[in-house]
Amino acid sequence: MLTYLDHAASTPMRPEAIEAMMPFLADTYANPSGSHRFARQARRAIDEARDAVADAVGCRPGEVVFTGCGTESDNMAVSGAVSRRGGVAVCAAAEHHAVLEVVEHLGGVVVGVDAAGSVDLDELADVLASTPNVSIVSVMAVNNEVGTITDIATVSKIVRRLAPDALLHTDAVQAACWLDLREVTPHVDLLSLSAHKFGGPKGVGMLIERGGPKVDPLIMGGGQERERRSGTQNTAGIAAAAVALTMTDAERDGEAIRLAALRDRLVKELQSQVDGVVETVPADRKVAGSAHVCIAGVESEALLYLLDEADVCASAASACASGAMEPSHVLAAMGVDRPVALGALRLSLGRTTTDADIDRATNVIVASVRRLRR
Ligand code: PLP
Repeated sequence: MLTYLDHAASTPMRPEAIEAMMPFLADTYANPSGSHRFARQARRAIDEARDAVADAVGCRPGEVVFTGCGTESDNMAVSGAVSRRGGVAVCAAAEHHAVLEVVEHLGGVVVGVDAAGSVDLDELADVLASTPNVSIVSVMAVNNEVGTITDIATVSKIVRRLAPDALLHTDAVQAACWLDLREVTPHVDLLSLSAHKFGGPKGVGMLIERGGPKVDPLIMGGGQERERRSGTQNTAGIAAAAVALTMTDAERDGEAIRLAALRDRLVKELQSQVDGVVETVPADRKVAGSAHVCIAGVESEALLYLLDEADVCASAASACASGAMEPSHVLAAMGVDRPVALGALRLSLGRTTTDADIDRATNVIVASVRRLRR
């Protein structure tokens, strides 16, 4: 039996989303850009999906650009802004690599984060006040490693005050299951989503571009997506993504309550059964599905190996550079001491997580930690 606690990495597809794909894989295979009736059927499905996404996100259908993944949406926002407007890109140190690497590649400015991994608002204000010609600021709504929520409304106020000409982008890839996006969207110019994080298929992303085109496209060619993103659309994937997002939106509040209780029980059980388990970010600062802990005296790699052998799927974002384990850039930016960070374990819950999963994961993790410490 598989115990899957890696929903932040990817989620199981909703059966309804799989069903929504089928007609476009089997029968309605026409190119949605075509001019015949058959093509119009595919185009209609994309139009309907666009309406549904716009409804769940709180924007106009014409502001939704379907892309190939969350990474592409992030890349398009940041590099498209600098390409169109010149100037400097700014982001926070705990951003996903899909933002961070682009900002660094473009010679932008990386702002520090607080101990929970949320952008340091004072430092952001200082950077914006002292940097001429900031073209885009990118701050994630929910961190993928530790689950921290950043109040994008507050970030927006600072950006609008100190860099009124800059665009504000938020990577909301990890937010869709936990936050009402309608409360985030009004504060930003650009917002990224990825369907496989909310029960949709892999390889479908969205970039919301509020108020019309703001950045240069990343992919040029046939002019699909109103010239915003060329390439024949993934009709089946887009139809499925819309179904998954609509269902996620409808179930969000109930699921957040259910999963926060499971998450809290998981962390409490681990802390009561093994010494030295520290919750990296307090529960009231993060999303309901995130249980990130650091376990003293244990290396994530070794622990994950034992968990994998016992069919428990979890993760730790540490990278092996030049033979030595390096703590994740997120934990390093948060100021977590290196030896502590090397014992990081990310357990992320989602729609299919049950009480039995929590019981089983607890037993396996406790036994594995005891074994490693012997
Ligand atoms: N941004 C965040 C916060 C993520 O968690 C991820 C995926 O892990 C991405 C971007 C990239 O999304 P995709 O896997 O669709 O490229």
